[in-house]
Amino acid sequence: MENQQETLVSRNRRIILFPFPFQGHINPMLQLANLLYSKGFSITILHTNFNTPKISNYPHFTFISILDNDPEDERFSKSSLINFAPNFIFKQDGADVLRKELELLLALEKDELVSCLITDAFWHFTQSVADSLNLPRLVLRTSSLYSTIIFSSIPLLDDRGYFTLDDSHLEEQVSEFPLLKVKDILKIGIKSDKDPYAELLSEMIKQTKASSGIIWNSFKELEETELERVQHDFPVQSFLIPFPKYLTSSSSSLLDQDQTVIHWLDQQSTESVLYVSFGSISQVDEKEFLEIAHGLVNSKQPFLWVVRPGFVKGSTWLESLPDEFLGEKGRVVKWAPQQEVLAHEATGAFWTHSGWNSTLESVCESVAMICSPFRGDQSLDARYMSDVLRVGVYLENGFERGEISSAIKRVMVDEEGKEIRERVRVLKQKADVSLMKGGSSNESMESLVDYISSLQVSVLEF
Ligand code: UDP
Repeated sequence: MENQQETLVSRNRRIILFPFPFQGHINPMLQLANLLYSKGFSITILHTNFNTPKISNYPHFTFISILDNDPEDERFSKSSLINFAPNFIFKQDGADVLRKELELLLALEKDELVSCLITDAFWHFTQSVADSLNLPRLVLRTSSLYSTIIFSSIPLLDDRGYFTLDDSHLEEQVSEFPLLKVKDILKIGIKSDKDPYAELLSEMIKQTKASSGIIWNSFKELEETELERVQHDFPVQSFLIPFPKYLTSSSSSLLDQDQTVIHWLDQQSTESVLYVSFGSISQVDEKEFLEIAHGLVNSKQPFLWVVRPGFVKGSTWLESLPDEFLGEKGRVVKWAPQQEVLAHEATGAFWTHSGWNSTLESVCESVAMICSPFRGDQSLDARYMSDVLRVGVYLENGFERGEISSAIKRVMVDEEGKEIRERVRVLKQKADVSLMKGGSSNESMESLVDYISSLQVSVLEF
């Protein structure tokens, strides 16, 4: 941890946290839990039996499992639950189960007061449960301010017909959000505001506005221009804290991180390696996989590539790669200690799917990016990183080996790459300064602790 804590509350206040069960949501929630614990709060983590966090890594927390899935239910083996109503995909009704569990916890804690519930923004149904118990609910939003603003405008974009435009419009500008092209909006992956993902986003936005506060995994200097709009559209307190600057998320990794990559990186020259990872959920087909592989090899740069088992649709792991593929320059692993890789001096750039954690981790370690978004908020963050902050090169047209190797050359070899690296270095410095006494992230952390400590909680008597 880079910063020393200042405010400490006495450990008679408990916070109940409920992460959404995916790697990109579990990591920031457990980082937040650790930060709040370091400030003196006791911590209870509610979790589903699907993607249960690594409980043994957190002996200082209490864990309670509250929702079961059917192991035969294929939807849980698919990449994401976000196409389903999150309170109804489990065997039990989420709201019912949560209410009963909270009633128990509130009645149990005699020497401790439960200060609040903090849930992932996607667990939108938790707001009405918290309201019915007079328990303040704060939201952890694990994406950027910018993408959340766009998500809150989906009904408007749908009204204007953007989601049904055909391919001839892909390059056109979105007049309501001039930074974006139509293809960025289409990549979110919704067809109209009636489809399940759009409904999830709409409920998420509504119940975030109804919450007692929003915690963002970000920092003010990164998204300063968006902050004003957020404060206007979401009339509750916002706290911006860049978790990767405080902690790594190794302890919450669901897959084992291959630590041998650090030794391999130690043997490479400074800023020579391209780190490639497309996160915990995205998948490619075999043709795209081979384009990525050829683009990497043709670039002639050393690379460290994370290929998750299941990343290639229809393959277990690397079966479709030609035997001679790796050569001497490349290393492929199933899962890496990403923050340590990004912090390593041999890492020269990060080819990422622009998931928000990956993006922020890259900025926090001042690593230039190549952005290949898949869906959801990723295209919005890719556009922001490439066109607003200019710390990444956006591979806008999918995976094509020629475009891939030329993007790698731009970032790793050309003068342009040096300029990008300089800009991201300045951003990292701003993040570092924001952690110091009087800095924006430090103040946000302090005011979050004060705010939670000041919340009025009613004790349930049974
Ligand atoms: N991650 C990791 N090892 C890897 C690849 C990713 O530990 O080999 C972590 C990464 O540090 C990040 C998270 O997994 O914290 C991925 O979250 P992100 O929001 O970037 O993408 P998602 O997986 O949600 O699409």
